[in-house]
Parts: sequence; C-alpha cells; structure tokens
Amino acid sequence: MSPVLFSHTNSICPAADHQTAQFILLRLQPPLARMDAGEFRRRGKEMVDYVADYLENIEQRPVYPDVEPGYLRKLIPTEAPEDPESYEEVMKDVERVIMPGVTHWHSPNFFAYFPTASSYPAMLADMLCGAIGCIGFSWAASPACTELETVMLDWLGKMLKLPDCFIAGTEGHGGGVIQSTASEATLVALLAARCKSVKRVQASNPKLSEAEICSKLVAYTSEQAHSSVERAGLIGGVMMKKVPTDFNYSLRGPLLQKMIEEDKAAGLIPFFFCATLGTTSCCSFDHLPDLGPICIKENMWMHVDAAYAGSSFICPEFRPLLDGVEFADSFNFNPHKWLLINFDCSAMWVKKRTDIIGAFKVEPFYLKHDNQESGLVTDYRHWQIPLGRRFRSLKMWFVFRMFGIKQLQAYIRKHVALAKEFESLVRADKRFEICAEVVLGLVCFRVKGSNELNQALLKRITKCREIHLVPCQLAGRVVLRFCVCAASTESHHVQSAWQHITQLTFELLQEQIN
Ligand SMILES: *Cc1c(COP(=O)(O)O)cnc(C)c1O
Repeated sequence: MSPVLFSHTNSICPAADHQTAQFILLRLQPPLARMDAGEFRRRGKEMVDYVADYLENIEQRPVYPDVEPGYLRKLIPTEAPEDPESYEEVMKDVERVIMPGVTHWHSPNFFAYFPTASSYPAMLADMLCGAIGCIGFSWAASPACTELETVMLDWLGKMLKLPDCFIAGTEGHGGGVIQSTASEATLVALLAARCKSVKRVQASNPKLSEAEICSKLVAYTSEQAHSSVERAGLIGGVMMKKVPTDFNYSLRGPLLQKMIEEDKAAGLIPFFFCATLGTTSCCSFDHLPDLGPICIKENMWMHVDAAYAGSSFICPEFRPLLDGVEFADSFNFNPHKWLLINFDCSAMWVKKRTDIIGAFKVEPFYLKHDNQESGLVTDYRHWQIPLGRRFRSLKMWFVFRMFGIKQLQAYIRKHVALAKEFESLVRADKRFEICAEVVLGLVCFRVKGSNELNQALLKRITKCREIHLVPCQLAGRVVLRFCVCAASTESHHVQSAWQHITQLTFELLQEQIN
C-alpha cells in the first residue's frame, strides 16, 4: 500500500476517511471482468455476420410482430443481474426476447409510414462513430466532427442544388447542421424566428415586454403538415394556425394571405410559416413560389419541411419540386428517411447562421476556447437544443463516397418506379381508386366504398402480417398508404403485395354479400 493512503487515515475529515476506505477496497478487488480487445474482435465479427444474416433473410420473418402490449416484461428478470453474464447468454435472448417484438422496417414487405434508411456503409460508419465516441458540441471538442459536418452539409446542399446562400463554403451567411429529427429542426427554426421577431418588434416598441409580444405572435402551417409542426408551436408557446389546402392537398398563396390579413387586423403579429414538401399523409407539395414572397413581404420566417421528399431532389427530374426554396430562411429534410443513411441524420440549412446562433447562444466559461472570436469556428451547440452531439457526418461521408451521386439517384428512381407500378395495378382494378397524385414513392388508394370497409381491409392486412401498411385520412375518407420503403423491395414484392390485398378484398366483399 502506498504511504499516501496511510497519511490520510488519521484525518479528522470523515469524508476523506471514507474515500480512503473506498480506494483500499478498490485495490483489493479482482480486475473488472469486461470484454477485452481480443474478445471484441471475435464478437464484432460474429455480430457483423448476425447483422448480414438478419438482413439477408429478413423476408422469412413476419413483417409485423404477433405480441400483446407488455409481452417483454414477462420474458426477462425484473432486476438487472448482480454478476456479469456472458455474451452468448445475451445474444441467445436477442432471438427469444427481442426479435418476436420487432416490426421489420427493412423487410421488402414493409410499406408503412415513410422509409427509414439503412445501408452497410452507414452502419460501418456508425461503428466508427461509436469508437471515436466524441461529443462534438464545439469545434475544439473534436475539430474533425465539426468540420466534416459543415463540408458534408455543403456536399449535400450542392447535390440538391440549394441556392448558394445556404452553403457554408461561399461568400454567403448560410450553412448546414445535422439535427436528430425533422421535428427538432422545425422547433429550432420556430424558436429562432420567435427570437428574431421579438427583437424586431421591441426595436420599434421598446415598452412592450417579451411576454406581451409572444402572446401576439402567430405561426402558420398547412392542415396537412406533420404533427411535429403543431407541437413546435406548443413547445414554443406561440399560436399555430392551420391553413386549408386545395383539392391537391397543397397550400397556395391566397388563403395564407387572407389569414394573415385577418390576424393583423385583429392585432396579432404573423411571424412564422412552415411549408411542407411531401406531406406525411399523401406526399403533397405546398406551392413555395406563391408562399415565399408573401413571407418576405410580411417579415415572416419561412421554414421548409421536406423530411421525406427532400432526398428525391438530388434527381434533376424532381428538383423542380424544390423551386421557391430561395425564399426560405431554413430548409430541412431527413437523409435518414430515403438517402441510405441510418437514423439519425436530419439535414438543416439556414440562410443566416447568426439567426439561429443568436437565438440560443449561452457561453459558460468551461466551453470557451481561444480561437472562438475569429468567426471561422463553428460551435454546433449553438445550432441545436441539446449540448451533446455524435459524429453523425461520418455516415454521410461513407455513404456519399461509396454510392456516389449516380447510385443514390438510381436508388430514388427505383423506388419511384415501384410506386408507379403499384399505382398502375390499382388503376387497372375498378374496385379501387387512387386518392392523391403519385409523385414519389407513396401511393394513396382505397376500395371504393365506405370508410368501414377500408378499415376492415386494413385490419385484415395487419392481422395476416404478410405486408404492413398504415392508413391516413384525406378529406374525411379513410385511405390506405402504400409506401415503397425497404432497400430490398423489388417488383415481385409489389406484385405479391397487390395480389394479397386484392385477395383479402375479394374475401371481404364476398362476406358482405353473403
Ligand atoms: C417523417 C416526417 C416528419 C418527422 O420526422 P422526424 O425526423 O421523425 O421528426 C416531419 N415532417 C414530415 C413531412 C415527415 O414526413
């Protein structure tokens, strides 16, 4: 034992005695039993095999699990184990406990929601991210983490042909950041807009308090917008009004303008508008070339949420859908939905970096570093809600380089072609109807007939577990959403899915007659 330890044992401070005792105990313990590098090498290779086997054979598993709520608690102990268990024991339970309760999002028979992206290069990059394990809240906290992110957002922005004002490596004032989700991006945009508007109103009315101004602020979005936009309003403590859409479920200028006029006349302050490109229900598109100029004229921040559709804008034929983005203050989409980069990776660009940095900047002493004042350094903690952030740009770098833009475009086009194939199958069957224009990988359809009939059909589909779909409501009607999701979905999966749907429909209609 070291003399240092004994020199403290007569201390009059009980805390110090306690610490000493702990320290002695620690030295008497056997070394911690934990996975060493040798075992990690072996288990890591096994895990890679397990993952590849899982994905190669995923089709053999029912796409949707057959479990009741609470199923899992019964399968594992009520407490964490006192003593270490072996890796084998844990892995054995993956098949016993976990897999029966997994909805297999990467099954080629998964057609629900929107896709969540997955590719081997992204998974490998994520492993590396875990290994480096840095928390890149500031430039100094890991310069590569910050700098790669800035450059990757520029690469991606250029792939989308975003206007230069959003690209960091230009003369402009813009730049990109990876947020965890589109919901966070919308909230960050709304909070930045709120801060900017409060400052602007206070500049001309210095007597007004922030609370008084906030109670008058009003934000707008379309009635088809994602629920996260409404939540951003709730979290941000401002009014959020829903503007009706046209027959295409698309928002046009005149209705927004009318609402703004009414609200201004009532003494409210319009400050924020969230447009959607590719709505979650039916993949409709708000008309930015109309809406953008209104926002500029009214001093309103325009945020564009293209969570799903954004990935398609890397293809020249879909890029016109993004026209009008030049009017936006911020733009966001999820490469983690449709660009082969595993969750989480939500790409957000702003036209003026200072708008979001200025809104959230707090500088405790322990986070300051020398070259901060140069203006050349990006500290991404000012761009987001959490402090900590992972090295997510590695996934982008691996995927962009290992696929190349051409393969990424081909991937998008393949999914759109499969959706069109499904659409033509639906159109060829007189019992069914298409409910919204098929622009990308989503087909909204229904059996001609009552909402109950469509609900009954969906219930059967879900119960059979051969394919998985979710519904939506359009103009009061229950509609089924068929979205091409998995990287492994091929034409024959689409054909079998349609056969399955028509078979179940046939049975259902027969029963109704009898
Ligand atoms: C999926 C989706 C979202 C939510 O995405 P998160 O990243 O999970 O927050 C938001 N808006 C639209 C239009 C979406 O399709």
